[in-house]
Order: sequence, then C-alpha cells, then structure tokens
Amino acid sequence: MAQIKVLDKTFETYLSAEKIQNRITEIANEINKDYAGKKPVFLAILNGSFMFASDLFKQITIEAEITFVKLASYEGTTTTGKVKQAIGLNTDLKDRHVIIIEDIVDTGHTMAQFLPELEKSNPASIKLAVFLHKPEATLVPITIDYCCFSIPNKFVLGYGLDYDQLGRNLPELYQLCE
Ligand code: 5GP
Repeated sequence: MAQIKVLDKTFETYLSAEKIQNRITEIANEINKDYAGKKPVFLAILNGSFMFASDLFKQITIEAEITFVKLASYEGTTTTGKVKQAIGLNTDLKDRHVIIIEDIVDTGHTMAQFLPELEKSNPASIKLAVFLHKPEATLVPITIDYCCFSIPNKFVLGYGLDYDQLGRNLPELYQLCE
C-alpha cells in the first residue's frame, strides 16, 4: 500500500482514483434518473468538495446548474459555539430543486447548521450528496441522500480534502496511519 508524508503525518492509500470515479458514475446515474426534467441546482460547498463537485457534475447529463458557496465560521451562541454562514450564495433558489455537494459529513454539525439556513431561500426541495460519511463520528444525525462512501472514523486526506491546506490535489483518498 502506497504511503505518503504530508507535513508531520504519514498517510496510506485508502481509495484508488479508479474506485472513486466508478462510484461517482453510479451516483451521477442515480441523480440523472431522479432529477430528469427538474433542472436541479447543484450547490457545492467550498473548499473541500471542489474535486468531487467537478467529477460528479461532468457526469450529469440532464439539464442542471451549479453554484458554489463557502461556509465561514464565526463565534456564535449555538451548542457548538460556532455559527456557519454561507458566503457567495447569489443564485435565487426559490422553488428550485437543490442538491448540496459536500466533501464529508463527520459530526454532522456543519450540515445541521447550514440546512435551516438554506431553507430560508424557500427551495422546492433540498437533497444532500456527499463524497464521504463517517457514521461512527455522528453527533447530529443528518439524512444523506447520495453517499459515495461510508468510512471509519479516521482522518482522511486527498481528493479535495486537506491536512493544513495540503494534499487537496491528490487524485486518490488517503487515511492517516496509526
Ligand atoms: P462536521 O461538521 O460534519 O463535523 O465536519 C464537516 C467538515 O469537517 C468537512 O466539511 C471537512 O472540512 C472537515 N472534516 C471532517 N473530517 C475530516 C477528515 O477526515 N479529513 C479532512 N481533511 N477534513 C475533515
């Protein structure tokens, strides 16, 4: 198994680029079927989802749009102490079918905060497509409509996901070595 070093940590290959692409094809086919004639808007959450969003969107064959937002954390008064605010959301989502594209659902806090925020735009529907899900890390249960891979509760890197901003360029997914 190939190992790489990023800063002070060693990672080993967990999912090959081929395995990732094959699974994305399956998910894209599902979406193409489910959303035919609905002209969905994909809403990709930056930065981590950029690679997944790009590969998924290339395989969407129905009429569809894509837009991007960044979630900025600022100190607030929720249970987690942080509030996520969407920056750059300038597409009118009223009465639109929205498919959120997220890199990973870990504790679920990010999506738990963002979903009610998004509902304020009155979309016709909201579904969630995620590249990775760590079920063992769940603190807030989130309904994931399209999930590429469920993974163990270990830190991962590559395919858009970073360690201290590095490693996003890797075309395969790596897991932190014990
Ligand atoms: P949650 O709010 O669900 O706990 O966390 C979601 C965010 O945490 C993701 O969008 C991602 O930025 C970050 N994250 C969670 N687990 C990992 C991981 O294993 N690797 C990396 N690189 N980021 C992670």
